[in-house]
Amino acid sequence: MTTLLLKNADVLVTMDEERREILSGGVFIQDGVIKAVGPSKDLPKVADKVISLAGCVVMPGLINAHHHMFQSLTRAIPGAQDAELFTWLKHLYPIWARITPKMIHVSTVTAMAELILSGCTTSSDHLYLYPNGIRLEDSIEAADMLGMRFHAARGSMSVGESQGGLPPDLLVENEDSILRDTQRLIETWHDPGRHAMQRIVVAPCSPFSVSRDLMRESAALARSYGVSLHTHLAENDNDIAYSLEKFGMTPTEYVESLGWVGPDVWHAHCVKLDAAGIDLFSRTGTGIVHCPSSNMRLASGIAPIPVLLEAGIAVGLGVDGSASNDSGHLMAEARQAMLLARVGYGPAAMSGRQTLELATLGGARVLGRNDIGALAPGMSADVVAFNIQGIDSAGAAPNDPVAALLFCSPQRVTHSIINGKIVVSDGELLPLDLNQHVAQHNHLARQLIES
Ligand SMILES: [Zn+2]
Repeated sequence: MTTLLLKNADVLVTMDEERREILSGGVFIQDGVIKAVGPSKDLPKVADKVISLAGCVVMPGLINAHHHMFQSLTRAIPGAQDAELFTWLKHLYPIWARITPKMIHVSTVTAMAELILSGCTTSSDHLYLYPNGIRLEDSIEAADMLGMRFHAARGSMSVGESQGGLPPDLLVENEDSILRDTQRLIETWHDPGRHAMQRIVVAPCSPFSVSRDLMRESAALARSYGVSLHTHLAENDNDIAYSLEKFGMTPTEYVESLGWVGPDVWHAHCVKLDAAGIDLFSRTGTGIVHCPSSNMRLASGIAPIPVLLEAGIAVGLGVDGSASNDSGHLMAEARQAMLLARVGYGPAAMSGRQTLELATLGGARVLGRNDIGALAPGMSADVVAFNIQGIDSAGAAPNDPVAALLFCSPQRVTHSIINGKIVVSDGELLPLDLNQHVAQHNHLARQLIES
């Protein structure tokens, strides 16, 4: 039995049923599970390890529900800096076709390290490229090394340019082998249990890169194992036009026709959901993940998040791939979500606390989990601490330290505990020599561009 006591947080944001914020709060953890939450004076006094978090806001670890971590190799590529989605993709596909398994591993470690330092403790990653012997294990092993809770989405592309799809033919896979590999991954890695560190998601890339058959077969496979489904949907006007022209349906009509709705499905972006689509997702419990920076970067538009929330739809946050953000800071992403909602829907469209709720409970809901996203007895011990004593929060911390997390410059964590293990301590990411890793990452990124 191993115990850990976190105490003396200036404010402990629980995200529990009453949304309590506890002054001088703490958390008592035993074997990776939260046993008690409350004012520090009411918690057990001794533990194997005790950490004082005075000066910090402490909260549940943030949850990132959409990413393409390999893209951290191709950030800020000059030719793709100022393009919309389809043009951007067409510029990058040929570069991505040269990615190696080692590049996937190293870039995934990079993306995860960045996320963890920004307060994220659980992430999904949508890997949809499998050239040159790449396997999903290349990213699963990265999560394992860093101790991050991980939902590895087995992406896929099967309709190349010659069949009317967007990706080049050399990046698409045979549909039978996609399904076989996905089944192998579920059987090898998927842990359905409470407090699972590793789950598999079935995730054909997008309607413009896979066939109807693959979408249908994927849904059947996922449901036969009880795993989640994920894809991109209704991202921008061209995406809608493609759907109408190719399938004669809006994106939401299309996914409904394929069985891709329900509480076990979450769709990325949904910038262009129409009223019928919103109603469909609301009725069926289908989730979405909002990626505001990517939507702004590619000029896709403003997703109707306040309308979706009003309709009771589960909404999580995602940084999206590192080539369309190009930042993997999840607290900064939450800030963007709050600000963009106001641009679209007015100053009261989304409060700071509502936004933090999307980044925690919202993410847990779309990933189909009820063991993360809040600090309460019986929950997984994923806890992060942000020090708000620095210059970035000066003047805000005495007023509203919780709102300061979003209204002021987003901070890095001082501490991160994932599944009861200390992963970041005093700002240092313990499992990794960051400088050495970044040097290796940049070396590989250069090699990729020059190859
Ligand atoms: Zn994406």
